[in-house]
Amino acid sequence: MTHEMTKPGHNRDSKLFYQSRSRRPLIDHAKGVYMWDVNGQRYIDASSGAMVSNIGHSDPRVIAAMQKQMEQATFAYRLHFENDAAENLAWRLAERAPGDLERVFFVSGGSEAVESCLKLARQYTLAIGQAQRSKVISRFPSYHGSTLGALAITGYTPMHAPFAPMMVDQPKIPAPTCYLDRDDLSDHDRGLKYANMLEAEILRQGPETVLAFIMEPVGGAATGALVAPDSYYQRIREICDQYGVLLIYDEVMTGAGRTGKYFAAEHWNIVPDILAVSKGLAAGYAPLGAMIAPDRIVSPVLDHGGFIHGYTYAGNPIACAAGNAVLDVIEQDGLLENAASSGAALKAELGKLMASYSFIGDVRGKGLLLAMELVANRDTMEPIAPKHMAAARLVDIAYDKGLIIYWRRTRGGYRGDHVMVCPPMTITLDQFGDI
Ligand code: PLP
Repeated sequence: MTHEMTKPGHNRDSKLFYQSRSRRPLIDHAKGVYMWDVNGQRYIDASSGAMVSNIGHSDPRVIAAMQKQMEQATFAYRLHFENDAAENLAWRLAERAPGDLERVFFVSGGSEAVESCLKLARQYTLAIGQAQRSKVISRFPSYHGSTLGALAITGYTPMHAPFAPMMVDQPKIPAPTCYLDRDDLSDHDRGLKYANMLEAEILRQGPETVLAFIMEPVGGAATGALVAPDSYYQRIREICDQYGVLLIYDEVMTGAGRTGKYFAAEHWNIVPDILAVSKGLAAGYAPLGAMIAPDRIVSPVLDHGGFIHGYTYAGNPIACAAGNAVLDVIEQDGLLENAASSGAALKAELGKLMASYSFIGDVRGKGLLLAMELVANRDTMEPIAPKHMAAARLVDIAYDKGLIIYWRRTRGGYRGDHVMVCPPMTITLDQFGDI
């Protein structure tokens, strides 16, 4: 049966499966911030898929660059050939990454990027004679990926629970959900309060056993664009330095411009020890991610038997050609600036909705990584009972009206409901009306 014969979709059963039995319309085409299904319904992609399509859909410059690469060489295995697209993108990332982060390891997605960070960290401590360091502290809630290593450090009970017996139990500290706190601390002190929980946990675990601390600088789907007070970021860096714990920034969602800087770490002038980036790197044009680390961490590993880790598609020339072209578009079109200014304007517009809708308890985020927290009572921030599936219902209502926003199931282990509003960085103020 040809694709054309089945184009209207849903006339037959699907052999594909994802998380559940629910089905969505077939995509027909997409352009800029809009997507159309085969029935002609138009959607505004106000979540950039899963915060991926940062430069919008079907940019001809990226398509042309990918086509050019395909005509040259579609695949060159890294153990047989180097390729210009990957070499070039690695240089460009090194130039843009914070501080001494300059060695780039390509992968095909966020979970792979996080796995790579964990393994590099571990091999580094082995190389420097600190084999007892193996624990990775992370935050609860958090999301770092669905492969078993990344899942073990993910603070999200529903995804974690079925596989718990198959994973190492890694320690978690509370994420800095300051907006829920009703104490009279200043923002600064609240930031310190949450950061100091890391120190307490390191001491509880035994500092000599702790390998790394991993955090999303601006929370993603698990926390709803959570931003901590400035003091948090500085104090976390100090604590990691003090105890020789590697600081890993998971910038899978925040990296490549979404928060208004190329890397979110730049907002606080923090240089993590290792950084993971993915979604916006090739912005949905191809599967791509990267781990970026300093030579002081990479060299000892390469000198002690090499990095025992890698993927077949690492440094794929087509994916890297897409990554280079996406970076060109971001820079040529001033999309970092647009993410910062449009993000501030959109956040203000979402904030205005609070006057009309008492169930919006908080609007937060940075750049175009924004979220609204839905609550039963704004004064107490009491959550809506999970059985109401409030965020899911809101997202479904919006979808039926042609507006795509993003939600995370909150069932079990996590308090609160939020929806993410994260349109492409190309969004213009007049397109806000569609949101
Ligand atoms: N880390 C963060 C912060 C994420 O948001 C995600 C995906 O949402 C991942 C890791 C995993 O990325 P992927 O789904 O590409 O494996």
